[in-house]
Amino acid sequence: MERLEKYIRNIPDFPEPGIQFKDITPLVKEPDMLRLSVHQLIHPFLGQGITYVAGMEARGFIFGSLAAWELGVGFIPLRKPGKLPYDVKSLSYDLEYGSASLEVHIDAVSQGDKILLIDDLIATGGTAAASCQLIEQLGGEIAGCAFVVELDFLKGRDKLSQYHIHSLIHY
Ligand code: AMP
Repeated sequence: MERLEKYIRNIPDFPEPGIQFKDITPLVKEPDMLRLSVHQLIHPFLGQGITYVAGMEARGFIFGSLAAWELGVGFIPLRKPGKLPYDVKSLSYDLEYGSASLEVHIDAVSQGDKILLIDDLIATGGTAAASCQLIEQLGGEIAGCAFVVELDFLKGRDKLSQYHIHSLIHY
């Protein structure tokens, strides 16, 4: 995974002072690294009967839809408020910086769906925990959560202790 790590750019004090922003755009620009990261994200979940991949706006869409393509399943977008056109279920949560809400279409998930949740990065785990909760409220089962980057010192994993968490790069 040291190969991937070289393509994560650290941007100090973005979007506010004190935040070390992990920029994945150099990684997704490099075809081999993009392919490697997607293969590594889904690897532990192969053969587990995943029915959908869900990804969080916006960088979760990049890795999530490619992971769905690789697994041969569909993709479910979890979006910021006011973006989804049909009836939605919403949940608010705290972020490393500020607070936020996520929405999903009420018919996006059905009882018995086995969902792999994917995002670029887990920090405090608030976004992922809210996403898991939304999916479960609609009757879905979380098969696992996969991230390119995990900020270990923020202990986001502790908010997701009941799930299989898989991260490629740890800081
Ligand atoms: P959290 O809910 O605290 O786990 O934050 C995770 C979400 O915020 C993910 O969608 C990330 O893309 C974004 N995020 C939080 N902290 C950072 C960071 N230091 N660098 C890049 N993205 C971040």
